Amino acid sequence: MADPARLSINQATTREQHSLAEAITAYAEAGVTGISIWRDKLAECGLDEAVHMIKDHGLRVSGLCRAGQFPAADAKERQARIDDNLEAVDQAVALGADCLIVVAGGLPEGSKDISGARQMIRDGLGAVLPHARAAGMAVAIEPLHPMYAAERCAINTLSQALDLCDELGEGIGVAVDVYHVWWDPDLESQINRAADRILAYHVCDWLVPTTDLLLDRGMMGDGVIDIPLISKWVDGTGYDGLIEAEIFSAKNWWKRSSEEVIRTCRERIVTAV
Ligand code: ZN
Repeated sequence: MADPARLSINQATTREQHSLAEAITAYAEAGVTGISIWRDKLAECGLDEAVHMIKDHGLRVSGLCRAGQFPAADAKERQARIDDNLEAVDQAVALGADCLIVVAGGLPEGSKDISGARQMIRDGLGAVLPHARAAGMAVAIEPLHPMYAAERCAINTLSQALDLCDELGEGIGVAVDVYHVWWDPDLESQINRAADRILAYHVCDWLVPTTDLLLDRGMMGDGVIDIPLISKWVDGTGYDGLIEAEIFSAKNWWKRSSEEVIRTCRERIVTAV
């Protein structure tokens, strides 16, 4: 049973219902503590307006989604992606975000070289970190389930993400998303290893059957993940940050009213997290 005051809602959870301005208003009016912001929605709203609205509504920003996507076929494109990450750092700072979420990127088009892609991820993070450190913005690598390795993220376990953190040093940690890591036999030991490097904690559930590997996430309590057990491990490291409900659900939750989605998140954080 998590403290409802720790709830943040990732705005992707009401992506189809709300613009950023609407999401800020709706979450704040429902008494939700935090929001995680997506950069495409931020671009529509405008950074200055978003900063203004966040302050006005007293919301905490648990993360900015997302930077990363480092691997690319040529040096020019890789540099463009690094530049985009540097801009994301500045946006996260302006929003007062707890961290910048990095979804590292998969294989460049036409490539079968996953270890090369992982090297590009390491090099890209290495190029962004000095600016992030100077700006005081924590960078959170989010390992994604291996089914996303080709197209979205070739960092697929907490162990792999923490190896990168070990190599890169200060200013970088991990985002633990139960959807991506629940199956990992080393999860408990890797959460313990992460210790104070856990920068974000994302919750949703794994439905059975899952019919869409991207957009069929379940509400906490509706699937097979033992979320309270993982929460116990995460909190056991001393993590006391926000708990972010992040539910991509094209067929179900995106079709319901945002009032129902927000109310259900508020209930389930107490009963199922
Ligand atoms: Zn996540």
